[in-house]
Amino acid sequence: MVKASEPTNVSKPSGEGANDTPPSPKAPPVEIPHTLSIRQLADLLQASAIDIIKQLMKIGIMANINQVIDYETAATIATNLGYQPRPKPRITQSLASAIGETKKQPTKDEELGGLRPRPPVVTIMGHVNHGKTRLLDAIRQTNVMATEAGGITQHIGAYQVTVNDQKIAFLDTPGHEDFTAMRARGAQVTDVTVLVVAADDGVMPQTLEAIDHARAAGVPIIVAINKIDKPEANVELTKQQLTDAGLVIEEWGGDTVCVQVSAKEKRGIPELLESILLVAEMEDLKANPSKPAEGVVIEAEMDKTKGPLATVLVHTGTLKLGDTIVAGTTWGRLKAMFNDTGKRVRKADQSTPVELLGLDSVPQVGNIMTAVASEQQARALIQKRQLEIKQQAPLVTLNNLFDQISAGQIKELNVILKTDVQGSIEPIRSSLERLGTKEVQVRVIHSGSGNVTESDVMLAIASKGLIIGFNTDTERGARRLADAEGVSIRNYDVIYNLVDDVNKALKGMLEPSYIDVIEGRAEVRAIFTATKKQKIAGVYVTEGKVSRGASVKVKRQEQVICESTISSLKHFKDDVKEMNAGSECGVGTKDYNDFQVGDILEVFRREKR
Ligand code: GDP
Repeated sequence: MVKASEPTNVSKPSGEGANDTPPSPKAPPVEIPHTLSIRQLADLLQASAIDIIKQLMKIGIMANINQVIDYETAATIATNLGYQPRPKPRITQSLASAIGETKKQPTKDEELGGLRPRPPVVTIMGHVNHGKTRLLDAIRQTNVMATEAGGITQHIGAYQVTVNDQKIAFLDTPGHEDFTAMRARGAQVTDVTVLVVAADDGVMPQTLEAIDHARAAGVPIIVAINKIDKPEANVELTKQQLTDAGLVIEEWGGDTVCVQVSAKEKRGIPELLESILLVAEMEDLKANPSKPAEGVVIEAEMDKTKGPLATVLVHTGTLKLGDTIVAGTTWGRLKAMFNDTGKRVRKADQSTPVELLGLDSVPQVGNIMTAVASEQQARALIQKRQLEIKQQAPLVTLNNLFDQISAGQIKELNVILKTDVQGSIEPIRSSLERLGTKEVQVRVIHSGSGNVTESDVMLAIASKGLIIGFNTDTERGARRLADAEGVSIRNYDVIYNLVDDVNKALKGMLEPSYIDVIEGRAEVRAIFTATKKQKIAGVYVTEGKVSRGASVKVKRQEQVICESTISSLKHFKDDVKEMNAGSECGVGTKDYNDFQVGDILEVFRREKR
């Protein structure tokens, strides 16, 4: 990260163009996050990225558009461009709204007076087999074993270690998929990511994916070059590849902290932990321990004997036994709490992971947990959350893009670009990014060659973006998730059409397009005659649901032979509205009678995407 304390002292800018004068009282205020990319700063200040880069050069900082800078540096630029910067509070939107509803908002002074530094929460990411799990084990063994008598058994999906009297929390589910899945549900728990790259393998596709996922979330990255004990390790080549991927390490004049480790031989672990503390310090993480607790659900399951179990990472405040809590849309009174080593505890403060017992049902991973004053407040908060879920704005699609821009709902079109070959990415990316207007910028937040995967869809949900494929397919799981969550996936085989559609969509001139979202599938197993004119298909529902009035395609050997609607649905003799997977029923369709045993009925709804 570029920070103010580097060669040029940004807090006291000098040289041409630097501006020492305080902002005029009329300067418009702007809230700036603790770290952000040049691109994000440009958007905030409604300036072009080039202008920002020029401003940075004036104060002696060379940076590219994706580079992340710290608050002080960004604030200097903002002041120079006539703004009044102030730090953006580090609290997620959903947490903030949850807090706002459950209790009186504290005054600024109370809030500030009560803020204390809190330990960072770290997620480990990287390509498969590069050593994420082994590194997590090595960190745990070198730092927890010493304090926990009798060794440790991991009980829950996170743990805390203590380094130089300071704590660090690690999420024990390595990989960017879970990280982004949580973000997709509105919760960002991670403060720092450690990107593991094996020195014998170098930067691989999931390394690049992890970099983009961390950047999309605005979370700083520390590189851990792993497996340095291996004779075939090539640290220099790995550094070069990282540079090519836009992560220039400090040693080479960049701003990415990089540590060499061997998870196998437990080498470099103290250095890695110290680097995490250093980067976290720049993030200025604070929380108020005396407030009612808020946190995020990081694991949840139904235990046969104990009932609903949830692991929560406390974000702020202190969680106490007996508290009434709401997690997502579940609630309960805290009956018992266990820490990461399985010990019963009565209290848990910020950045502490604990397993909870007492909720009435199983919450979802990524749900916000809030302590409230009474059962009545719990019910009110649940009602509010249920309403919010219903009223959620639709995700962006090329069809609704213009409406969303006009309504001021988006200022940035986030695109995930997947292509068949690597060579197509750059021309498409630059054509798309050139389409940006004053009202809306086009940002390709992730690109790669290969099929559209579930992880791409998650990133689209988390970043409120859409997916564009060029000559590529969509994996089945990804399609299912995209349909369920309303994520738009557009596929093209001509670059001109792809760029033209986005251009038209930005201007509100795109003809609407439709996709068929499959709601259920059923297999025809018998044919019955109802009346002379009407035949009924006896079907077995294999997937989803079949409902009366729904649109249906009849498929024979993968070919659609007719499209119709379901006019009658019977379960034995009874008329029913819908039947779910695993059941048998009788289906009659409007104006169609020629079913054959073995036909597939595909029930669908047509949506504008
Ligand atoms: P993950 O998929 O990223 O979680 O990778 P794992 O932690 O499962 O490691 C993959 C393989 O690499 C395992 O066989 C590990 O024992 C091995 N491995 C991990 N770290 C090191 C290391 O520092 N040195 C060596 N030689 N092997 C390692």
